[in-house]
Amino acid sequence: MMEKTRLGRTNLLVTRLGWGGIPIQRVSEEEGVAVIRALVEMGVDLLDTARGYTNSEHRIGLALQKTDKPVILSTKSAVRTGKIYKDVQTSLKEMEVKKISIYHLHAVNHFQDYEKVMGTGGAYQGLKRARDEGLIDYIGITSHNLNVLEKAVEDGYFDVIMACYSFLEPDAAKKVFPLAKARNIGILTMKPFSGGVIGEAGPALRFVLSTPGIVPIPGSESLEKARENWEIFTNGYSLTKKDREYIEILRKEMNQQFCRRCDYCQPCSEKISIQHILGLKTIVRRFGPVTQELDWFYSLVEKARDCSECGECLTRCPYELPIPKLIRENLAWYDQWLEENKKKRAQL
Ligand code: SF4
Ligand code: SF4
Repeated sequence: MMEKTRLGRTNLLVTRLGWGGIPIQRVSEEEGVAVIRALVEMGVDLLDTARGYTNSEHRIGLALQKTDKPVILSTKSAVRTGKIYKDVQTSLKEMEVKKISIYHLHAVNHFQDYEKVMGTGGAYQGLKRARDEGLIDYIGITSHNLNVLEKAVEDGYFDVIMACYSFLEPDAAKKVFPLAKARNIGILTMKPFSGGVIGEAGPALRFVLSTPGIVPIPGSESLEKARENWEIFTNGYSLTKKDREYIEILRKEMNQQFCRRCDYCQPCSEKISIQHILGLKTIVRRFGPVTQELDWFYSLVEKARDCSECGECLTRCPYELPIPKLIRENLAWYDQWLEENKKKRAQL
């Protein structure tokens, strides 16, 4: 079975399992391109990436040179002003196409950002210009913050939204999906494995796929993973008894450890980006050994070392996460990882 769904008012008919282009950055160009081609041959027809995912757009471009299967391209930029228009041109060049189906405003996680992108000279206007000139077809928005997405849906300027959705982060199903469906807005969902916290693909994918009318976009960087996800999808996805048990156990286990990235704990008196530090292992997993060379990551970690343990954030986290303790543990884990990497390099 290969179910398709209509992506809201775009009227695009999409295979219900899309693909996300984050992990592809980690492997060699040859491997990455082979994975994308295999996925498209299997029947995946929506490929999502971003300007911020280094070589991901380029690799998609290379993979598409050798296939004539129709593919819906979805990409995004975190530029907040009209200069995003330039990013659209770069994306077109990288993917070697004349038009991109869906272009999103990337990670609009705070209301200040939302006001900026929607204001005069903001990124939304830049995307409108690109759409008027025929460089893109539809405008989307991605966010980790359901309140921002709710507002975006209510405002009605977007054709597609993208929300985090997994059995550890199921709130979008109640808070945003019904509203988006009522307004005929297409729904893409990211992080079905909650950034690698959920280890088993079966329960994770069956959970998100059993929500009708959404298109999850799990990433995969190996043929093995791509095939595994595809098999789960094509074998039907009602949750089994075992799935439900697994979900329940993991939910309990993660309840007071897993950061839902809602930012309710902010503002931190030391300006620490709490959600990023609590998701530090996911970032390291995603970027691999190059993580330590990323300037933004370095600043993030160094800032977190300033945690005064004032406890202000504790009163604001609705999930009662022991934030300062988790920050300490994550930093200790990172320092050990750095040490191990150093040793490995010395042995080469
Ligand atoms: S305990 Fe640490 S992270 Fe929380 S508000 Fe205080 S300084 Fe920020
Ligand atoms: S620590 Fe709590 S409040 Fe802060 S982002 Fe994570 S889940 Fe939300």
